Amino acid sequence: MESENDTILVIDDHPSNLEVLVSFLKDQNFTIRIAENGEWALQVLETFKPDVIILDVMMPGMDGFETCRKIKSNKETASIPVIFMTALGSVKDKVSGFEAGGVDYITKPFQHVEVLARINAHIKLKKQRIQLEQQAELLKVISVTDDLTGLFNRRHMNTVLEREFERCLRYNTDLSCLLIDLDYFKKVNDTYGHGFGDIVLRDFSQSLANSIRTTDYAFRYGGEEFLILLPQTDINGAVKIGENIRERTENNRIESGAISVSVTFSGGLSSFHKHHPATSKEMLAFSDNALYASKKAGRNRMSVYGG
Ligand code: GH3
Ligand code: MG
Ligand code: MG
Repeated sequence: MESENDTILVIDDHPSNLEVLVSFLKDQNFTIRIAENGEWALQVLETFKPDVIILDVMMPGMDGFETCRKIKSNKETASIPVIFMTALGSVKDKVSGFEAGGVDYITKPFQHVEVLARINAHIKLKKQRIQLEQQAELLKVISVTDDLTGLFNRRHMNTVLEREFERCLRYNTDLSCLLIDLDYFKKVNDTYGHGFGDIVLRDFSQSLANSIRTTDYAFRYGGEEFLILLPQTDINGAVKIGENIRERTENNRIESGAISVSVTFSGGLSSFHKHHPATSKEMLAFSDNALYASKKAGRNRMSVYGG
């Protein structure tokens, strides 16, 4: 299938000069497109993102260097390797080509096997780079995600809490911190098994994620404990959000086979402007203190630090 071929854009003001090269590359199963000047090439690149660009240096109007600089300054096309075509021996052109962002050059007249080898080398490099970038991206996601629930993990919680707390100090904005602990969760495990306990944790996490705004954060603090961070939210707003989640949780049934249960949680709240914590750790401690009060008062409720 043509779409599976590696693709090349050849930019030359005399494409007829390249007929032999182009037909050779087509025989090697490349999909080739041609543009006869720089402006034309940039237009083609808006919809066609080739694996490699072969670019003539000498062209009327926008020359190859200028065209290359344009390609490299557009983030949509910047990563496409550009191979310059220069006349044999023009060292100055070759150096300018690298300075403009080219990765390689081929000299006219062409040795077809050499051109092919260079193209393949750059396509391979490009694919390896994309793979590395994707792996790095995946690692970044994994490093902030809790395996079981898909929520942010505790490590990321520390980073974000610190960052959001600093923002409050600097801009005098508000921040509320809701700590949640599922009630009698040990009993769920003991009665229905650890596997079902995991299902409950996942279900609850999903509903937490669905209950918050896009600017809020939900973290798995550990075990059956969670932290919701509500930037630019005062204590009254936070109580409403917390109550909402509490009611939804209490009314939600989690089912698996013949099992059907509902769980509740106890919550502890603190907020930056009401409680004036000196550090993010202290803020967390305030919420933990309030959570303890909720547990003591009978569970399935929210408490604000300090009563
Ligand atoms: P309380 O209302 O006082 O919070 O009682 P509790 O039973 O929820 O609290 P406790 O701290 O005694 O028990 C927490 C339980 O959570 C025990 C532990 O096995 C369970 N747990 C922690 N992490 C996981 C997990 O990843 N999966 C499952 N299934 N259970 C977990
Ligand atoms: Mg606990
Ligand atoms: Mg618990």
